[in-house]
Amino acid sequence: MERLQKVIANAGVTSRRKAEDLIKEGRVEVNGKKVTELGTKVTPNKDEVRVDGIPIDKEEPVYYVLYKPKQVISAVNDDKGRKVVTDFLPEVEQRIFPVGRLDYDTSGLLLLTNDGEFANLLTHPKNKVNKTYIVKVEGKPSKDALTQLARGIQLEDGKTAPAKVKFQSGNKKRNTSIIEITIHEGKNRQVRRMFEAIGHPVLKLKREKYGFLTLEGMEPGEARALKPIEVKKLR
Ligand code: URA
Repeated sequence: MERLQKVIANAGVTSRRKAEDLIKEGRVEVNGKKVTELGTKVTPNKDEVRVDGIPIDKEEPVYYVLYKPKQVISAVNDDKGRKVVTDFLPEVEQRIFPVGRLDYDTSGLLLLTNDGEFANLLTHPKNKVNKTYIVKVEGKPSKDALTQLARGIQLEDGKTAPAKVKFQSGNKKRNTSIIEITIHEGKNRQVRRMFEAIGHPVLKLKREKYGFLTLEGMEPGEARALKPIEVKKLR
């Protein structure tokens, strides 16, 4: 016997935390009966578990990398009808979801999978996956300001961990700069808030690298399946 939320997550429907929400929202049935208790135990492959009326047969795990365009929601559906990341992988039959998220206006590398355990592993703070962003900001940050970012800066929800920061170029006429920053945390809107904190608001943000993965050879809106060796290296 296993906990219901674990069985749902293992079936690749979603992460364990989201599975708990599905149960609490009354969207899960066991042997034809609605279950809203998180502690419920079931026997996988014996008890019939359904989410939104659909049986959770174990799906084959799949892994994709998407070059997310800006103005796309990092979700699988949107009540306001805006574009979502799964719109770019229409041929995928499995119930994939994004690993973490990029802001609506951020472009760049985003992983999608139906493997809840894999997603939890990569987004867990202790895993420290490096993420590199190319940032266009207003003005020209001083060396001191960039050192501050690299050392860690106080945000509302705590101090950021040390980051790698590289000034790439400046445009005097437009009064903008391009900076590369590598962080391993995933606080909400972290890069935007870090640059706001030094007085240089972000005008454009792109995630260029996730761990060892890059967007090489990809255009915005393009997706590809990860190779098994890439999945293995990320774990
Ligand atoms: N930091 C941000 O501010 N936004 C993102 O989308 C990703 C990292």
